[in-house]
Amino acid sequence: MNNTNPGKDISEEDLLTKFPLAARSASQSNSVVEISDQVSFGGKNIPLIVGPNLVESEELIFQVAEAAIKAGANMLRGGCFKPLTFPYRSEKYFETGEDGLKWLHQAGKHFNIPVVTEAVSEDQVDLVSKYSDMIQIGTRNMQNYPLIVKAAKSGKPILLKRGYGSSLRDLLGAAEYILYNKNSQVVLCERGITAPHTHRSSSRFLLDIQVFPAAREVTHLPIISDPSHASFWSPWVPSLVNASVAVGADGIMIETHPNPMEAAVDPLQALNFSQLAKCADESKQVALAIGRTLGQ
Ligand code: PEP
Ligand code: MN
Repeated sequence: MNNTNPGKDISEEDLLTKFPLAARSASQSNSVVEISDQVSFGGKNIPLIVGPNLVESEELIFQVAEAAIKAGANMLRGGCFKPLTFPYRSEKYFETGEDGLKWLHQAGKHFNIPVVTEAVSEDQVDLVSKYSDMIQIGTRNMQNYPLIVKAAKSGKPILLKRGYGSSLRDLLGAAEYILYNKNSQVVLCERGITAPHTHRSSSRFLLDIQVFPAAREVTHLPIISDPSHASFWSPWVPSLVNASVAVGADGIMIETHPNPMEAAVDPLQALNFSQLAKCADESKQVALAIGRTLGQ
């Protein structure tokens, strides 16, 4: 046993005492997290989650949902409550709250795909779980334990994004809170971490490609990739999607917008619809090359 572990990486003791529920035991296979009859994470299929950063309007989410379905998406996502880095809101920079949740829900029903959206605070959990099939916990809230526990208790599957300054050990600690509160439906998400060099002044984070095989060694929980938030730069998204699939990601989340430069939030990271279609097609080939399938 390594008692000199500085607490960043994972020791044998951590697996036994810090997150025994999230840890993979020797004989254990991957957990499969089922979102609906058609969509599950952790199996042979790699679900494709597509959506705009913000559910800006009813029209936008229906337009995006249609393009997402055409690209073979299994799930629709979009933020209605946004944990924006800076407090200023404007006509271009807003949240749509419950209206957005209703539009997202309606689009999901119309196109018959499950939806995922974020709860930013404890008091939003009931509302978000009323309208969505999965609750996202954002990177800035990964260690907001009261929020995580409240979300866990909703009984909905949880998409837990890794804090951008957090280790895999911290992420599994947060996941353990969900499992400990009797919700076994946890999907982890790598969305980029802070690093000294990110290769462009606009790229705030670095996709940690090593976390996929690392997670596979220590946990049975599925882990997906969000290259849009990781790179903050749409031209890099398709190659990062392919790399994520190749390295073992159990799902892919891609941001899209009919006109990315007009997107209300994070315009640099969204693919337009033709870029999305091309990216999805390519990554399906990568999935096939490693004996998996991607999207529907
Ligand atoms: C998001 O998914 O829109 C989001 C805000 O992501 P993150 O928490 O990873 O920044
Ligand atoms: Mn975002």
